[in-house]
Amino acid sequence: MQNSNVIKIVQALKKRYPQKADMDLGNAADSLIATIMSARTTDVQVLKLFPSFRKKFPNWKKLATADVKDIAAAINTIGLYRNKAKSLKALAQKILKDFHGQVPDTMEELVTLPGVGRKTASCILSYAFHKPAIAVDTHVFRIARRLGWSKGKTPEKVEDDIKMLLPFKLWSDVNRTMVRFGREICIGGKRPKCWMCPVAKWCAFKPKTEKLISGS
Ligand code: SF4
Repeated sequence: MQNSNVIKIVQALKKRYPQKADMDLGNAADSLIATIMSARTTDVQVLKLFPSFRKKFPNWKKLATADVKDIAAAINTIGLYRNKAKSLKALAQKILKDFHGQVPDTMEELVTLPGVGRKTASCILSYAFHKPAIAVDTHVFRIARRLGWSKGKTPEKVEDDIKMLLPFKLWSDVNRTMVRFGREICIGGKRPKCWMCPVAKWCAFKPKTEKLISGS
């Protein structure tokens, strides 16, 4: 695929999805906690409990010294809440101990934090520190492969392939736009909604779908 078409795709998606990411909550601590909570859970569920959670645990110290059971009780409406409660307490302890209470701003440091993998670290670099990064979640992984940007079988390979195609300044737009695009149009399963896709003309996916008469 020509790089110019890759750029056109990202620009078209930026135009259609100008909003910030749901887990971009305006500061590094909130964005990091919310992004960790959002694994295998909908963003809506996280946003629903987040204000009361932060009221109960307003800073790293409160979280670091809290009983894991109390943290779990505050997030028990989301998936994997017991594991996430343990991670959040350990995260707070590590940030206080090793980073003077500040969320670090490099990939190398972020991935040392409990509950933080490369995907979450990339989100935080983009949201909180405005550094170019590509978080390859399930949407980015699927869509990049359909578009023909990558044949990679791992998120790391897909991330590397996208980085080769796009200028730095567009890296952070990939996840931000494709999460919404993947929920609405280029959905998972066998029938993405190609008939309503704003980037169909540049997409390498051969069996482009058409709207069924039944509308299903
Ligand atoms: S044309 Fe279809 S497969 Fe390609 S990006 Fe659009 S919705 Fe996805």
